Amino acid sequence: MSNKIQAIRGMNDLLPDQSPAWQYLERQLRALVARYDYREIRTPIVEQTGLFARSIGEATDVVEKEMYTFDDRNGESLTLRPENTAAVVRAAMEHGLLHNQTQRLWYMGPMFRYERPQKGRYRQFHQIGIEAYGMTGPDIDAEIILLSARLWRQLGMSEHVTLELNSLGSPEARARYREALVAYFEAHREVLDEDSQRRLTSNPLRILDSKNPDMAEMLAGAPQLFDHLDDESREHFEQLKATLDAAGIGYRLNPRLVRGLDYYSRTVFEWTTTALGSQGTVCGGGRYDGLVEQLGGKAVPAVGFAIGLERLMLLLETLELIPDEAMGGVDAYLLAMGDAAERQALLLGERLRDTLPGLRLQVHCGGGSFKSQIRRADRSGARVALILGEDEIANGRLTLKPLRDDGEQQTLDQDAAIAWLAEHIVGEA
Ligand code: ATP
Ligand code: MG
Repeated sequence: MSNKIQAIRGMNDLLPDQSPAWQYLERQLRALVARYDYREIRTPIVEQTGLFARSIGEATDVVEKEMYTFDDRNGESLTLRPENTAAVVRAAMEHGLLHNQTQRLWYMGPMFRYERPQKGRYRQFHQIGIEAYGMTGPDIDAEIILLSARLWRQLGMSEHVTLELNSLGSPEARARYREALVAYFEAHREVLDEDSQRRLTSNPLRILDSKNPDMAEMLAGAPQLFDHLDDESREHFEQLKATLDAAGIGYRLNPRLVRGLDYYSRTVFEWTTTALGSQGTVCGGGRYDGLVEQLGGKAVPAVGFAIGLERLMLLLETLELIPDEAMGGVDAYLLAMGDAAERQALLLGERLRDTLPGLRLQVHCGGGSFKSQIRRADRSGARVALILGEDEIANGRLTLKPLRDDGEQQTLDQDAAIAWLAEHIVGEA
């Protein structure tokens, strides 16, 4: 039996072959949020446990069973962040970012949830999130949905995601609805599974989320939140829909969309796909006007979303939407034959990089026969091999050997070689 130490279950290494695709996605995301003038906020990956318990809600899956919680050496209970909205609110309050002002913020980074690992569901995963504070909407609700829709267009995947939309109303409307719902569920107690029995008192709205087929029929007949909305929330929702209609953003009204976390009010939405099996939610968000106050601040309206990057990446890979150019790779591979050339190769490499900032160049290290070096050059994926031998050194020249097409090998003065590389390889002529 092997006792090699391995990665923690559900936590992935990102290997060099995969990182260019991630970098591509991250570049797309950063460029997008900049276009809407959202500004980045970075918070620590651990927080006091109480932050999440108070914000996400005690009776949610996340707090009940998914958190990585531990005592530090001082006996203080800490938690690896399972999501980042609570931490952003904490930081924004702590640094006075919410005082009589609006903020458009974004974050990106790892989150941690103790879930059963499977495709699209991991214990360490990554999210990018958008958060807008100080605006009551519905214009800003529409903005963040338009921003997300632009992302799908930018990535070329618009036709593979669907926007699902609902309104949870005001806390009062939700409380009234909750009563109606509990009464209905109590009348159908015999159909409720064990989880739902438990939620009946703690978080009955979550019962609507259940995927248990035995409960489907009962759930279909449950009272609908939409019939209990307060007038203001209804108006808010109508205006949001009107903006989306005018912008040509299609959506499906889903009265059972309640989202996993307690802190939502009014607008909630998800972008879902059928291309990833049961892990179909790529992006989830909504309005959480009560959260800042719940965490001890003065009430500040807020709305935001989070995108699961692993799911988005799986989708891009499945749909083959990562452009070849994004996968990077080296342009040229410099090899050196003989002691004098080996001594000069690194210096020539520096000179090439000084003159051609766009050139991606690998300089061979470690010597070896011409055959073995050219094999390495070929495997590197470079388009051209640059050969520095004794003749080249003696005459200030460099040999260029195309590796991917049947262009002629040629030996040029080094300046001419640089000009050739600029024109044919870097496109900087
Ligand atoms: P799900 O219903 O799939 O568990 P959720 O409602 O718990 O999702 P959120 O808390 O809204 O998810 O997080 C936003 C997004 O983060 C999700 O839509 C999903 O894309 C991604 N996500 C959530 N949990 C995981 C996980 N364990 N692994 C990978 N991605 C995840
Ligand atoms: Mg979940």
